[in-house]
Amino acid sequence: MIDFANVCDAVAATAAKSTKIERLAGYLNSLERDDLVAASRFLSGAPLARKDDRRLAIGGRTILNAARHVWAFDDAALGRAYRDSGDLGEALGALFGEPPVPSLFAERLTAASLAALLDEIASVAGRAAAKKREFVCERILRACRVNREAVYAVKILTGDLRIGLREGLVLDAIAAAFGREPQSVRRAAMAAGDVGAVAVAARDDRLSSIEIRYAAPIGFMLASPIAFGSSYRELAAGTWLVEDKYDGIRAQAHKCGDRVRLFSRTFSDAGRAFPEIVSALAAQRGDFILDGEIVARREGRALPFRYLQPRLQRVDPSEELRSEVPVAFVAFDALAVGSSFLIDRPLGERRAQLAAALEPLGALELAPWQALEPDAPPERVHELFEAARLRGNEGLVLKRTDAPYVPGRRGKWWLKLKRELSTLDCVVVAVEWGHGKRAKVLSDYTFAVRRSAESDELLTIGKAYTGLTDVEIATLTRWFEAHKIAAGRHGFAVEPAIVVEIAFDVIQKSDLHLSGFALRFPRIVRLRPDKPAGEIDTLERVEEIYAEMLAREGVAR
Ligand code: AMP
Repeated sequence: MIDFANVCDAVAATAAKSTKIERLAGYLNSLERDDLVAASRFLSGAPLARKDDRRLAIGGRTILNAARHVWAFDDAALGRAYRDSGDLGEALGALFGEPPVPSLFAERLTAASLAALLDEIASVAGRAAAKKREFVCERILRACRVNREAVYAVKILTGDLRIGLREGLVLDAIAAAFGREPQSVRRAAMAAGDVGAVAVAARDDRLSSIEIRYAAPIGFMLASPIAFGSSYRELAAGTWLVEDKYDGIRAQAHKCGDRVRLFSRTFSDAGRAFPEIVSALAAQRGDFILDGEIVARREGRALPFRYLQPRLQRVDPSEELRSEVPVAFVAFDALAVGSSFLIDRPLGERRAQLAAALEPLGALELAPWQALEPDAPPERVHELFEAARLRGNEGLVLKRTDAPYVPGRRGKWWLKLKRELSTLDCVVVAVEWGHGKRAKVLSDYTFAVRRSAESDELLTIGKAYTGLTDVEIATLTRWFEAHKIAAGRHGFAVEPAIVVEIAFDVIQKSDLHLSGFALRFPRIVRLRPDKPAGEIDTLERVEEIYAEMLAREGVAR
C-alpha cells in the first residue's frame, strides 16, 4: 500500500486534473489483477464494490480502539492531532508509533490483501461482531510499515479519501492507463456497478462485453434549481418537457426476473419499507431499471413529505399503516430495459422506452409530462407550476428532451422550479462591512435563532451576504450603526431587532455556530419588519427541519 499512499499524496498535492489522471494511470498500469481491482475501488472511495450489498459497518470508535492497541497514545494527543487535520486518517498517521520489527510472518499490506481483510470485516456477523471487526481492523493497522500507509488504510476504512478525487477522474485514469475511450469506461462502470471489474475489463479490452448488473444501484441524476421569476433564460436552448416535482423520496427500482430491489438516494435498501411497491414491480413483465419518486397519496392527491415519515421508520409496515399512508412509485425515467443500457440515449427515447416497458398497476405509476412549447412565455411555466401545486406537488422539474442520463451530476439538463418550503426567520446579531462595491455598507449579516420559545437566548446559525436591495442595505447600515453594542474584528454586534427570512439548501451539524448547526447557501429572502425578534424560529424548529432532511435522504438506513 506504500505505492497507493504515494500516488494519493501526489493526487492531493496537485489541482491539475491532467496531472492527477497521469499519476493515477501510471500507478494503475503497474498493478497485478487483484491489486488493480482493489486499488480502483479504493481510489473511487468505495471500500467494497457498489454492487456489493454488504456494508463495512465500522465506525470511528472501532478504528480508534484498534489504533490504541497498536500505537498506544493518549486522548490529549489524539485530540491535538485531530484538531490539526480534521481527518481521522491524518490524525492517526501523526500518532503512528514505531513500526513493528518485521518478522518472517508479519503481514504486508497490499491493495489486494487489504481488500481481503475488508471482506472479512463486511462478512462478520453474529455475536461479538464489533469485537471481531476491531480485531481485523487491528491486523490492518499492524501491517502498516510507514505512516502514510496507515493514513490511507484508515481513510479507506472510513470510506472517504479526501484527496480531491471523484469516481469520474478514476474512470478517466483507467481509460488513460489502458488506452480506452473515457466514455466507454464510464458507461461500463455505470452498467457493472464496480470500478474494479471495469478496470480489469479495460485492461483486457473487454469493455463492450460488460453486462448490466441488475441490483447494483447507479448514481442519481440531479436537477439544478432555477429562481422563480419573470423570465426563464435557462429554457432558451433546446426543447423541454415538464413534470411535476414530487415531494417524496427519490428511488431507483431494479427488476430482473423475480428479483426486485428499490434503492434510495444513498443506495440503501428502501424495499422493505414499501412492500406494496415491490410487489407492484414484481408483477411487471420484463427486466428494467427505473428512476422515480416514492410519494404518499390519498384520493389521487399527493401528500406532503411528512406523511411519508412514519413509513420510513418502519420496515415491514403493518396493514393499518399501509392503508393510513398509501404510497406509489411514480416512474419518470428508464436507465435500462432488458439488455439495453439506456443512459446515453436522449430523454425523449428513454421516456418512450419507459412507457412501453411499464404497465401502470397498483402502486406503480408513470409520471405524466407535457412538452413545453419553444419560446413558451413565463406565464405558461407559472400556469403549469400552479397546476402542479394544486395536485399537491412541490413545483416543476423541467428536462431537456435531448439530455442523456448523467448519474451523480447536477447539471443544466434538469432544472427544478419550486418556492422555498422551509425558511427560517432569524434575527441579525452582528454585521460586517462588505467588500468591493459594498465596502462602505454593512452588508454581511450573522443571524441567530432562539434557543426555545421560553428562552430568549440567541444562538447563531449562519451568515449571509446577499439577498437585499441596495436601498435596504443602506437604510439598515444607518440603523446598525446607531444600534451597535460591541466592536468585533471586522464589524460589530448589534441589538437583535432586525428579523430576516432565510432560505437555504441544506442544514448541517456544525461547531461553527452556537446553535450547533450551519446552513448551506443561506440567502436572505426578505426582511420581516412585521415580525418581532421574540417570535423568530427556535432551535427546535431547526432540529425538526434537520431530522426531516435526514429522513428524506437516509430512508431506512
Ligand atoms: P430537491 O430535493 O429540492 O433538491 O430536489 C431534487 C429532488 O427532486 C430529486 O432528488 C428528486 O427526489 C426530486 N424530484 C421530484 N420530482 C422529480 C422529477 N419529476 N424528476 C426528477 N426529480 C424529481
